[in-house]
Amino acid sequence: MAIERTFSIIKPDAVAKNHIGAIYSRFESAGLKIIASKMVHLTKEQAEGFYAEHSERPFFGALVSFMTSGPIMVQVLEGENAVLANREIMGATNPAEAARGTLRADYAVSIDENAVHGSDALASAEREIAYFFAADEICPRTR
Ligand code: UDP
Repeated sequence: MAIERTFSIIKPDAVAKNHIGAIYSRFESAGLKIIASKMVHLTKEQAEGFYAEHSERPFFGALVSFMTSGPIMVQVLEGENAVLANREIMGATNPAEAARGTLRADYAVSIDENAVHGSDALASAEREIAYFFAADEICPRTR
């Protein structure tokens, strides 16, 4: 089993509904460690840059507008197979298709307001972590 790092966002809908603690609890119960964390309110430019790969998709404008509608929590999660483990904890993009007990089944209302983001691969995890965190903001559990 490989120890990996992945990037996670608690989106504006879930922050507004006060679900930060409940969602952090799911990560920790699953054995993922939060090794960096902060609250940010994205600018339009930051949201567009983060979701650049979706810039040609029809939902891009709505996605940027949603992601800038309120503060978000961004975090780095570390653990065994963290990328896939976090995707399993999150559930499918569309909450209507998300497995029971996943974050999106429990906290998301629709495909466009779906509570959480998680990197889909190791390469995107590295890129996304670097988009939000400087190296000295990440605190691996070495003790
Ligand atoms: N999204 C949307 N409408 C869609 C598909 C996606 O608003 O029809 C948004 C949604 O917030 C999703 C994000 O775009 O989480 C990124 O889409 P992706 O397919 O990468 O899903 P994810 O990796 O977040 O599960």
